[in-house]
Amino acid sequence: MTISLNGGRMIHAPAGRSLFAALRSNGILVPTACGGKGACGLCKVRVRGDSSPLQPAELSSLSGGELADNVRLSCQVKPVNDICVELSTDVLAAREFKATVESVLNLTHDIKEVRLALLPPGAISFRPGQFIVLRIPPYASSRFAAFRPFSLASSPARPDRLELQIRRVRGGIGTTYVFDHLSPGASLSLTGPYGDFWLRESGRDVIFIAGGSGMAPILSIIEDMADRGISRKAVFFFGARAREDLFHLDRIASLQKRLPELRFVPALSAPAAGDGWDGERGLITEVLERNVRSVADVEAYLCGSPAMINACVGLLQRKGLCESRIFYDKFTSYRL
Ligand SMILES: Cc1cc2nc3c(=O)[nH]c(=O)nc-3n(C[C@H](O)[C@H](O)[C@H](O)COP(=O)(O)OP(=O)(O)OC[C@H]3O[C@@H](n4cnc5c(N)ncnc54)[C@H](O)[C@@H]3O)c2cc1C
Repeated sequence: MTISLNGGRMIHAPAGRSLFAALRSNGILVPTACGGKGACGLCKVRVRGDSSPLQPAELSSLSGGELADNVRLSCQVKPVNDICVELSTDVLAAREFKATVESVLNLTHDIKEVRLALLPPGAISFRPGQFIVLRIPPYASSRFAAFRPFSLASSPARPDRLELQIRRVRGGIGTTYVFDHLSPGASLSLTGPYGDFWLRESGRDVIFIAGGSGMAPILSIIEDMADRGISRKAVFFFGARAREDLFHLDRIASLQKRLPELRFVPALSAPAAGDGWDGERGLITEVLERNVRSVADVEAYLCGSPAMINACVGLLQRKGLCESRIFYDKFTSYRL
């Protein structure tokens, strides 16, 4: 079967093989966290002319709008005739990089910062807010390599030095590796950059909302705003449980000096008694409810757990913010 890519390059897909496998074997690094098993939903592409049936994994991963727009999970499509595939520019540009781990530091009791140096001539050109997919090598009882997406926390001004913020998920393959087996000097490989979570150049006021390691892409965006002198009015709401879950406060304070229009609102849902916390308290939705008065001429950028994002998006929409001005990356985990 012949596959035409964005109306140009043609590649061949052997019968019975998935579109995902055909793309990857032709050097097109469609993102994945499940290795093509239909679980992660990251390998979406738009397919035209395909007559293979929709698979159950697609019905659970794709929205009604995506299905109507011919979006498919490339790992679920086994072409039965010649097809046309539309790939986003980030997927077409994604490459594989080798990196050495420079440091692995505790940001909190359950979030580590991993700094990577790309091996020469590695320099990744990315938009702040995008993510990479890290290859987790086999280790201990995890016998196969795994692939996990992580957002870049660093500024694109340093394209050969990457920073990740990784939160431990109990029993998770990737985060157990990072927390218990990864140390400076280790070699890793990654692909990317991916995703469309970046600051739109509209000039509107901005609301950033993050929880936990969801700070990563927001920090990258804010660092880039400071580097490029983008002084839009912005408020960054950061939700955590207790004071010990806050991190990078000094770094954010120094970014605020470079971006006088940036306000930072850390909010604790369960501050410990007697810790002297005099900032915002409550769930991040309660904090937004109290602090966001008008959403006219505003854009919102959210990153963190799916539950937090769903709750905050609902609230922002009830306040009148339209869907097209809300951007998010959900840190979904996949049970394979
Ligand atoms: C676009 C994107 C960007 C992301 N960026 C970040 C980031 O910057 N920082 C960050 O910390 N995270 C990020 N994530 C989440 C990250 O990719 C991982 O999903 C997360 O770190 C958990 O990975 P893991 O391998 O440790 O867990 P997994 O191995 O995927 O397991 C997840 C959970 O499922 C359970 N589980 C797994 N398999 C089974 C099974 N067979 N039966 C029962 N239970 C099972 C595990 O115990 C665990 O609780 C991002 C996700 C996306 C989609």
